Amino acid sequence: MTHVYNTNPLQVGRHYEIDSIHSYGEVSDFFLGLQKRKLLATRCPSCGRTWLPPRRDCGACGKPAQWFEAPLTGKVHSFSVLHFAAEAFMADVPFVLAYIELEGIDTLFLSRVTGCKPEDVYIDMAVRAKFRRLVDWTPNDVVFEPAPAETKAAAGG
Ligand SMILES: [Zn+2]
Repeated sequence: MTHVYNTNPLQVGRHYEIDSIHSYGEVSDFFLGLQKRKLLATRCPSCGRTWLPPRRDCGACGKPAQWFEAPLTGKVHSFSVLHFAAEAFMADVPFVLAYIELEGIDTLFLSRVTGCKPEDVYIDMAVRAKFRRLVDWTPNDVVFEPAPAETKAAAGG
């Protein structure tokens, strides 16, 4: 059914819905790993560079990379507090989007920081991965929250 919302200019609304099939291709193991509460990264056996998000072929030298488990703790490299987002995430604002540094990983991992107020996030803050119980098969199946030491420090003042 079509609804007319305005006539000058003419604005009409219609129901719109689509089902899609999305393939994660050669990085499927990363998303399957999130379901098992693992962060799966890749390492190039030729030049040694490590990638998270993973790359099946090394972004530096092009050789096929191999899977390995990345650590689940790291620290905030940089962050933004989002007060506006795509429609699917507007209900969540404000939220923190951060680049996370993980030991042994040469790239930064973009993720949310949850479990604290946005104003409590800072650069070098220790964080740990937190996995969604019921996976949605998206990068949002993992977020980061303050690591236990950070939680104690905050509680103790
Ligand atoms: Zn390489």
